[in-house]
Amino acid sequence: MNKISENLTKKDLEHIWHPCTQMKDYEKLPLIPIKKGKGVYLYDYEDNKYIDSISSWWVNMFGHANEYINQKLKEQVDALEHVILTCFTHEPIIDLSRRLVEVTPKGLNRVFYADNGSSAVEVALKMSYQYYVNKGEKRTCFLSLENGYHGETIGALSVSDVGLYKDTFDHILLKTVQVPVPSDMSESSTCKAIDALEEVLKDKANQIAGFILEPLIQCAGNMHMYSPLYLTKARELCDKYDIHFIADEIAVGFGRTGTMFACEQAGITPDFMTLSKGLTGGYLPLSCVMTTDKIYDAFYCDYNENKAFLHSHSYTGNPLACSVANATLDIFENDDVINENKKKSAYIAQKLEKFKELKNIASIRQTGMVAAMDIIGYKPSDRIGLKVFDYALEQGVFLRPLGNVVYFMPPYVINYEEIDKMMDTAYQAIKSLNNG
Ligand SMILES: *Cc1c(COP(=O)(O)O)cnc(C)c1O
Repeated sequence: MNKISENLTKKDLEHIWHPCTQMKDYEKLPLIPIKKGKGVYLYDYEDNKYIDSISSWWVNMFGHANEYINQKLKEQVDALEHVILTCFTHEPIIDLSRRLVEVTPKGLNRVFYADNGSSAVEVALKMSYQYYVNKGEKRTCFLSLENGYHGETIGALSVSDVGLYKDTFDHILLKTVQVPVPSDMSESSTCKAIDALEEVLKDKANQIAGFILEPLIQCAGNMHMYSPLYLTKARELCDKYDIHFIADEIAVGFGRTGTMFACEQAGITPDFMTLSKGLTGGYLPLSCVMTTDKIYDAFYCDYNENKAFLHSHSYTGNPLACSVANATLDIFENDDVINENKKKSAYIAQKLEKFKELKNIASIRQTGMVAAMDIIGYKPSDRIGLKVFDYALEQGVFLRPLGNVVYFMPPYVINYEEIDKMMDTAYQAIKSLNNG
């Protein structure tokens, strides 16, 4: 490490408490100051470059410092950086809302904004709950999938089921029930999970406001993948038992699963859809909840009836964030992104074949632009993911395994050569483990 990096690292650790990290790890692990980004690459102060294989925690779509998005952001910053979204409105948010209604499943006509994924989940849960309150019912429970993840705030954590993040806070969470997620893509495991869902609904539906789930891929839940058939059938059951279907597309939305939104593959419209991460192409914090006129109408009345949705954030609908979200949608429109991704996904599928040779690999899986596999034969305390991380970083590839799960979720602008570099490096990293 050179002097500049060393100095920055030292200053960082004097004050900064990093997210999702045991800070003591930094006594041994490198903390890498990043000087700039361009395309799929991140550059440090020693001019090493790293392929950002995980899109900086799944947010980046069209590369770092994308020229088109930069330009749109610069134009907006000179016009209007921020304005309160009560009493006032602005063009970027008007455009964005119309376009989001156009690209999301039919029937999601209303958009409520927040500024991060967890807050969008809070909004969806509160709206779902208040919808029933406004109708004269108290439904105090939410349903979610086992192994699901919906964020870190108290409400979002309550419907999540990743023990690592949740167990510590168990006693202060909302009342929720988890139902099994299909164990694999097969029809039999899908039907089994649907039966389990119906059992719970038969018994408890009148206490439940909504069922929240991550369509097709439970990303934080070790990239667990399941069939669209589950979504189709779960939608039917939510209608039958009259509870809300809340699709959390924060990670899978905007093309990750091969279609613009994962729900499209099941041909369904949820009652609520949460969006964030890719919404701004990985540039700025912004999130929203899309919902139907039916839900909206349940809050629409004379002031004194007290049915308004009284929720806000200081930076709700920030114009800079909205302008980059519009720029991101421009790129989707102009560059035929979904079709280009189909070709890249097919190429990734082909490259995954080689991993089958490795003895310490199981459950190779892929949905669209996400591919994952499990490294087997080690104890959690071996921290095997960390060894893969170290090896790959040394070779110029930033991978960040989830425990023992190695996955690829690159920006869509990755080219074929860069896919080779990313996946060949991961292959070598896994092979270099002593029983590979
Ligand atoms: C990341 C994520 C969230 C939380 O979003 P934040 O912006 O990190 O608060 C919620 N749901 C899913 C599915 C996510 O992947």
